[in-house]
Amino acid sequence: MTNQLPSPTLAASARGLVKTYGSGDTAVNALDGVDLDLPAGRLTAIMGPSGSGKSTLMHCLAGLDRPSGGEVTVDGVRLDTLSDDDLTRFRRDRLGFVFQAFNLLPMLTAEQNIWLPFELAGRKPDPASRARFDEVVGVLGLASRLAHRPGELSGGQQQRVAIARALLGDTQVIFADEPTGNLDSAASAEILSFLRRGVRELGRTVVMVTHEAESAAYADDIVTLVDGRRQESAR
Ligand code: ADP
Repeated sequence: MTNQLPSPTLAASARGLVKTYGSGDTAVNALDGVDLDLPAGRLTAIMGPSGSGKSTLMHCLAGLDRPSGGEVTVDGVRLDTLSDDDLTRFRRDRLGFVFQAFNLLPMLTAEQNIWLPFELAGRKPDPASRARFDEVVGVLGLASRLAHRPGELSGGQQQRVAIARALLGDTQVIFADEPTGNLDSAASAEILSFLRRGVRELGRTVVMVTHEAESAAYADDIVTLVDGRRQESAR
């Protein structure tokens, strides 16, 4: 492998990525030598059957888990060079996350949930972040829902709040793990089109794990995994 950093137009890349769970006879090669270049400013869907390694790949790309071998570079930073503390800070400051279960705090309003990572980072809203808040809330159609608590919102609206939260920070890359897994098909289509708008209108990069074939239609690029290896995709 070379020591060269990938070109700045890559949001993330992986070289020879291996992840093995367990050892000996019971070892599972969840990732078996994955090479990947994810261009910035695009929506990439990671697809494949259950157990093919999608979540493992996303967790290694997002610094939520350490690979057993190979290299991951995200936003120009080699993740293996970071200590656990630096990796935690990197995730907090540079990456956005959207999960299947929304992960909103029930006692906070939608607006408070959107600002939460900002507050946790000890930052005060400044004019630039307030302007971005208005832009993100506008793109996601949440202006009339800001005072609602999660329990007063539909599943699709809750996921829009979670996406707004991910878009508000300075994060370039947003990782979405089965973001429509808890939604009916109408709400799923809506969420996928909002993720698309985040890419098109706000210039972000979205990497989405999904096992739902319909999601492919919204993606610019598709990475298909089978048994921990990449399979050439249709696109
Ligand atoms: P997918 O997201 O495509 O369903 P996963 O990445 O969750 O696939 O899993 C890939 C393989 O790794 C599967 O065989 C799974 O059983 C195994 N695996 C995932 N996580 C663990 C773990 N923590 N311990 C042991 N095996 C695991």
